Amino acid sequence: MQRIYLDANATTPVLPEVVEAMLPYFTESSGNPSSAHHSGQRARGAVEMARIAVAKLLRCAAKEIVFTSGGTESDNLALLGVLQPYLDRNEPAHLITSQIEHHAVLYPAESLEQRGVKVTYLAPNSEGILDPAAFEAALRPHTRLVSIMLANNETGAIQPLGKLARIAKAYNANILIHTDAVQAAGKLPLDLSGEFKNVDLLSLSGHKMYAPQGTGILFVRDGVKLAPLFLGGPHERQRRAGTENVPGIVALGRAAQIAQQWLDLAPTDVSSRPEPNGHSGETRSSGPPQLAALRDKLESGLLAAIPGTVVNGSTLHRTPNTTHLRFPIDHAEPLLYALDMEGVAVSFGSACQSGATEPSHVLLAMGLAPAQARSSLRLSLSRLTTEEEIDHALNIIAAAVSRLQSIHA
Ligand code: PLP
Repeated sequence: MQRIYLDANATTPVLPEVVEAMLPYFTESSGNPSSAHHSGQRARGAVEMARIAVAKLLRCAAKEIVFTSGGTESDNLALLGVLQPYLDRNEPAHLITSQIEHHAVLYPAESLEQRGVKVTYLAPNSEGILDPAAFEAALRPHTRLVSIMLANNETGAIQPLGKLARIAKAYNANILIHTDAVQAAGKLPLDLSGEFKNVDLLSLSGHKMYAPQGTGILFVRDGVKLAPLFLGGPHERQRRAGTENVPGIVALGRAAQIAQQWLDLAPTDVSSRPEPNGHSGETRSSGPPQLAALRDKLESGLLAAIPGTVVNGSTLHRTPNTTHLRFPIDHAEPLLYALDMEGVAVSFGSACQSGATEPSHVLLAMGLAPAQARSSLRLSLSRLTTEEEIDHALNIIAAAVSRLQSIHA
């Protein structure tokens, strides 16, 4: 059976070039980057080359990149690292975040709140986008940190982060701005010297950008003070103790180089793309516009084939690979399992909630009723998704929904 993977927001496949780059660091090139001998220094060189590659993708300085174990650690390091010292000194602190953040931000925010930090959780509009005026109104004299995601993991909705950061800095230049850019990395340009020059901290996760699970970074702008989460050796400029995951870091560096090339490609029409090996339907997206065109083909095909289907969230401001659909069925859970049996992998929203029947906190925050949230599924394409797969998935999904509707009727 052909397996069609439409769950790239949960995790992306590791690209063959990325696997190839990391493999020697398990065997002939293994070494501890802190060792003085040749093997150690070769590993150190590889880590620093990867740091430069990630910095190029983000348009920042290499020394501003801290390698971590993934998005969750980066988010925790940003929130706890900035705000814990205020609690330690018994100084007032206020955090502004949103109701649609990943739990990797929401749970540290709640933990800080329980320990005395004041927290504002901004609500999105029905499109899943935050309102700059409400953000401005939430700023206070003791606001120390803002943590707003760049792209949402469920709907793909892109937040007006550059604008929010400018508003915060105009109010008080000392407010630090963190963004969870886990779902934006490798899908959208992230310019920390341009549009996002007011962003002080930015989280990325390797396994959302074609590198392995358990890898990530936190960008920490030069001069930003951050208490470490782990105590130990002086790794990562004292920001993250622990021997570096050298193969994972090398993989992340290679994935960043590939993402850079992919993002730089000029837009062309999906239907007129050259087809490898002359086979029709074998095309893979070769840049964001092509990926968006494949996503749009799937989405418009499903909207046409299944009357009553609705897109959750903004269709204007969203990542090029994501569509979140509400189907005219009672519950999306049987649909998810029916699709899985036919080889199509999709998700309820965030991977952490897969299998759980709790309605998504993101959809509820956007104003959906619990029943509407429960009848929704996220379809997220990867750069490796082909047009043939989209055509096939469209037929399978439309037929599965119709079967479920007739069973119910
Ligand atoms: N933030 C967002 C927006 C995510 O989508 C995820 C993972 O789904 C994370 C953080 C956590 O990243 P990781 O799985 O690397 O810990």
